[in-house]
Amino acid sequence: MNKRRALVTGGAGFVGSHLCDALLADGYSVVVADNLLTGRRSNLEHLRTDTRLEFVQQDVSEPFDFGPVDYVFHFASPASPVDYSAHGIPTLKVGSLGTFHSLDVARKYGAGFLLASTSECYGDPLEHPQKETYWGHVNPIGPRSVYDEAKRFAEAVTMAYLRYHQVNTHIVRIFNTYGPRMQINDGRVIPNFMRQAMRGEGLTIYGDGSQTRSFCYVSDEVEGILRLSRSDEHTPVNIGNPNEFTILECAQEVLAVTGSKSRLSHEPLPQDDPKQRRPDISKAKQLLGWEPKINLKTGLKMSLDYFRQAVGADKSSRT
Ligand code: NAD
Ligand code: UDP
Repeated sequence: MNKRRALVTGGAGFVGSHLCDALLADGYSVVVADNLLTGRRSNLEHLRTDTRLEFVQQDVSEPFDFGPVDYVFHFASPASPVDYSAHGIPTLKVGSLGTFHSLDVARKYGAGFLLASTSECYGDPLEHPQKETYWGHVNPIGPRSVYDEAKRFAEAVTMAYLRYHQVNTHIVRIFNTYGPRMQINDGRVIPNFMRQAMRGEGLTIYGDGSQTRSFCYVSDEVEGILRLSRSDEHTPVNIGNPNEFTILECAQEVLAVTGSKSRLSHEPLPQDDPKQRRPDISKAKQLLGWEPKINLKTGLKMSLDYFRQAVGADKSSRT
C-alpha cells in the first residue's frame, strides 16, 4: 500500500490535534502547519516521538508548500468567540487567504481537500433545526462577522475550486464540539463552566440562559469528518450532535458531573449571540452512515480528567 501523507492546517488546535491522532491511526503520515495563534505544541506532545508526525510553525495566510500530500484538511482558524474577536483580521485572512493557499496545495498535488466550516454559517438561525439547504441569517457587519463571513467565503472558495479546478473538495459544518485539549480560557461555554465549577466560582450564564446549543463530543465529530473526507459528497454536511440543551441545562449538567456547589451568575448576552442551534443530521446519516454515540453527560465525564489537570495547572483567573 502506498504511504499516504496528509496536511492538517491548525493541527495544533483542539479538533485538529484529535484529527491528527485519527489520521495516524488510519495509516497516514501527517504534516501540521500551525502558527500557534490559539493552538499549542502540547496538544501534539504525546506524538513527539512519532516520526510520522511533522510540525511546521507556519501562518497559512501566507503561501506555503511542504511537498506532495494526498489530502489537505484545512482547520486553521480561531474558533471561539473570544479568540476570533481578539484576532478579527487574522480570522478574516485565514478564512480567505488561508483557504486559497490550502486549496492551491491540494490542486498542485491532486490531493483531496476538506474545509472545517461551521454552524456559524447559519448565523442566528430563523430555521430550526438547521438543514444544509438553509442559507442562514448572518449579520455581515456585526462582531461575529469576522468569523461567520470568513467561513462563508471559505465555503465559496472551496466550491469554486471544485467547479473551476476540479479539486476533490469537501465541506463539514461543525456544530459545537467539546472534549479534552480545549483551552480552558478560550471563553467557550464548556471550558468556562468546567473551570468555574472546579474552582467553586459562579457559572457565568450570558443572558437568561434560554439560548440553546447542541454539543458533540470530539471523537464523534472526528469520526464524521473522516467519513466525509472519504465520501463523494462535495456540498456541505452538518456534523454535530442533535441533542439540544439550553445554556441553563448545560450548566446543570456540568454541576452534576463535577459535583460542584457553584452558583449561577448572570452576565449580559453578547451581541448577535444565536438564540438556538441544532443540526439536522439526516444528510450525514444517509450519506455517511454516521451519527454521534456519546451524550453530553458521558462526554463531560470523559473530559473530567483533562479539565481537572488543566485547571490545576492554570494560574490565571480569566473568566
Ligand atoms: P482551536 O483554536 O483549538 O484550533 C485552531 C488552530 O488553528 C490553532 O492551533 C491555531 O493556532 C491555528 N491557526 C489559527 N490561525 C492560523 C493561521 N493563520 N495559520 C496557521 N494556523 C492557524 O479551535 P478548534 O475548536 O480546534 O477549531 C478548529 C477548526 O474547526 C476551526 O477552523 C474552527 O472554525 C472549526 N470549528 C470548530 C468548532 C468547535 O466547536 N470546536 C465548531 C465549528 C467549527
Ligand atoms: N455562554 C455562557 N456563558 C459562558 C460562555 C458562553 O452563557 O461563560 C453562552 C454563549 O452566550 C452562547 C453559548 O453559551 O449562547 C455558547 O457559547 P460558545 O462561546 O461556547 O460558542 P458559540 O456557539 O456561541 O460559538
